[in-house]
Amino acid sequence: MSLGSNIQYLYSSNLLDLLSKIGQIANKNSLKAYVVGGFVRDLLLNKPNYDIDIMVEGDAIPFATSVGQELKAECKLIERFHTAHIYHENLVIDFSSARKEYYPHPGALPEVTFSNIRDDLYRRDFTINAMALSIIPDQPFELIDLFNGKQDLDSKIIRILHGRSFLDDPTRLYRALRFGDRFNFIMEPKTEMLFEKAIQLSYPSSLSTKRIAAEIDKAFNEKRPLSLLTKYQNTGLLAYFHKSFSEWTRPDFKFSIVPALTTRLRSKFKNISDSAVFWCFLLSNMPLEEAKPLLNSSGLLHTVTSQVIDSLNSWQTLLSKLIIANNKIEIYNALKNSCPESIALLYLKNKNKDVEKKLNLYTNELASIKPLITGDDLIEAGIKPGPEIRKIFDRIIEKRIEGFSLTRKEELDLATAISNI
Ligand code: ATP
Repeated sequence: MSLGSNIQYLYSSNLLDLLSKIGQIANKNSLKAYVVGGFVRDLLLNKPNYDIDIMVEGDAIPFATSVGQELKAECKLIERFHTAHIYHENLVIDFSSARKEYYPHPGALPEVTFSNIRDDLYRRDFTINAMALSIIPDQPFELIDLFNGKQDLDSKIIRILHGRSFLDDPTRLYRALRFGDRFNFIMEPKTEMLFEKAIQLSYPSSLSTKRIAAEIDKAFNEKRPLSLLTKYQNTGLLAYFHKSFSEWTRPDFKFSIVPALTTRLRSKFKNISDSAVFWCFLLSNMPLEEAKPLLNSSGLLHTVTSQVIDSLNSWQTLLSKLIIANNKIEIYNALKNSCPESIALLYLKNKNKDVEKKLNLYTNELASIKPLITGDDLIEAGIKPGPEIRKIFDRIIEKRIEGFSLTRKEELDLATAISNI
């Protein structure tokens, strides 16, 4: 079964040409290359997926190097794992060497040897993720489905590939729920039985904080995070990160409003991170001195970690300032330096109606008040770059909050007057 026309329909002929070209480069090097994993699954589901994983029978390092040269694309090699990333136009294409895995003990990262496509697909989590698409020039876009993944996809079933799967890698317990929830699939009976056994025998306790954090973080980025988190909680998987995480559904916590709140705030603060807001909230239910080391060992993106720490450090002080803020300028000054995640956390922690009104005033009105002039205008007017510029902008914003609708010229005059003081 060739899926070339499916790719053309879902993406464009550019992607088809690119994949063909990568297949030809492999062929020139006497290698066989395949697209594997989520891209193939999603192609069969008619869902676009721009995470392209190429697997080659042989060493991916010299192969990715030739692809990088031929495409004139940036290529990053990870020699230790025999993997590589190629940055081509807007795509990141991952390259890996077909491998066989051996788990020295449950939950450990596997020991790896080079192998063939069969072993590489067999080491994967579920049949639906263990399909490949040939890009060998003689078999273009032929589906390679050695474990009946397509049939499971059609029957909406999550099935592990062998009986030791959950023991070898308990992150697959999280993944089983995640894919099940995302696609509305159910576990095949034997998989479900082994899933339950794995939970009873506490397999996830062999996982590092980092690996559990990565799985939980992926849940935050799903379309319906609450549904998946409820499943993580009901199966006990959430509490393996921290016992307090199992409390998020308590009626006095407002966790269930997180997705809607983040969406609402995104219309005002474009760069708000869903993931950071979820982490802020979950970690805010434990003492700060416990939350910080946990977060630092979670291996999350540095930007997320710093937004979360910043919000956890500041929300109580911000709340006290808001309680006593008496007018728009005081509200603005209380919140002007906070990141959007801190604002979200304030909404979630606050129980006071008056403070909520102040938060609404800030997000709906005050936060978007900006001067007409820019930093460049000030520098052109002879004002030195530095803290003075921030002071000038704050003053202009305060004037606007007070109701003055200043023209550009009036703003510049005010700036010059302040800088001459
Ligand atoms: P998503 O749509 O969430 O990105 P994905 O299937 O692309 O899903 P990734 O986590 O990017 O998932 O992994 C890519 C592929 O690597 C999977 O499709 C699967 O074949 C394999 N894989 C990932 N994690 C595991 C695991 N823990 N055990 C076995 N195979 C895995």
